[in-house]
Amino acid sequence: MNLPFLITGPCAAESEEQVISTARLLFEKVEMQGFHIHYFRTGIWKPRSNPKSFKGVGEKAFLWLQRVEKEFGFKVCVEVATPEHVVCCEKYGIKNVWIGSRTSVNPFMVEELANAMKEKDFTVMVKNPIISDLALWKGAIERFLTNNISNVMAIHRGVADSNENIFRNAPIWEIPIELKVAYPNIPLLCDISHIAGHRKYLRQIAQIALDLGFDGLMAEIHAHPQTALSDAQQQITPKELYQLLSELHFKQLSTSPIEKMLQKERNMIEHIDTQIAQLLQKRWKTIDRIAQIKRDNNIQIVNAKQFNKIKNIYTQYLTEDRLSAEFIRQYLELLHYTSIQRQKEL
Ligand code: PEP
Ligand code: MN
Repeated sequence: MNLPFLITGPCAAESEEQVISTARLLFEKVEMQGFHIHYFRTGIWKPRSNPKSFKGVGEKAFLWLQRVEKEFGFKVCVEVATPEHVVCCEKYGIKNVWIGSRTSVNPFMVEELANAMKEKDFTVMVKNPIISDLALWKGAIERFLTNNISNVMAIHRGVADSNENIFRNAPIWEIPIELKVAYPNIPLLCDISHIAGHRKYLRQIAQIALDLGFDGLMAEIHAHPQTALSDAQQQITPKELYQLLSELHFKQLSTSPIEKMLQKERNMIEHIDTQIAQLLQKRWKTIDRIAQIKRDNNIQIVNAKQFNKIKNIYTQYLTEDRLSAEFIRQYLELLHYTSIQRQKEL
């Protein structure tokens, strides 16, 4: 069994008590139970969309993190977004940092950060930019590689996408897979928390990441997630993390390259089907709401105009050949039939 590289800890350092109690629980419930934690993570300076949101406690948290290193033996990592942050990390002997998605999107900032770490003994983990742009992610990684920073890794955290209606950030798995092809020797981790946005999706995303051949996971953990000052919905307790890790299947990847390639494609299909199933469920729930409105207001069930509109949506995206036209025909028939049945039943 190949255990994944694991980075975990609270979204943000909030207080000494919160940092230490989370670290202690991670040590007892995860590390001592056989899942090695490679880095304890936490945000000290938080890049928040809303300027009134909690922005992190700043420099004083380094003293708490030094305790985490000393008392539990964890290596610690934090997010850096400016050269001043890098200097501050050095001052407290922290040599593991990550570049957030709102920073990796900006080549000027990345350049400044790479210069600040030039030829130094840092481990830098570069998150993908917040927008879907593989070239920008590669460019950010290149800037660290060419500055001879000791250790460079990549973290996939999904991309902001207003069409994504399940996860907080769309995973678009093709992007990290292509990155891995371009940089096979750079460890690739998956930040399941920021993709999920809600704890209920964490395990599913972690499993997909492992199946796709990611080298490790990043997950946000809090001793009391409900009270977290940032990203409360997506954080889980150390005990829940242990549970999640125990439920994952760590597949032994086949040695044959063709089998490997095939397995990755199959995993991708499984992921796509999961999304289709989730969307269908959402569709049915919407239909049930429509049915209720129609029933309460005595409106007829079948609406041909609406059906044609939906047909156009499918033909716009899918028809290229005879087979896909036939697929749409059969699929729409089933979709329509099921929708009418559901409404009738109500
Ligand atoms: C984080 O990891 O705390 C964070 C802010 O992540 P991202 O840059 O991926 O949004
Ligand atoms: Mn967070």
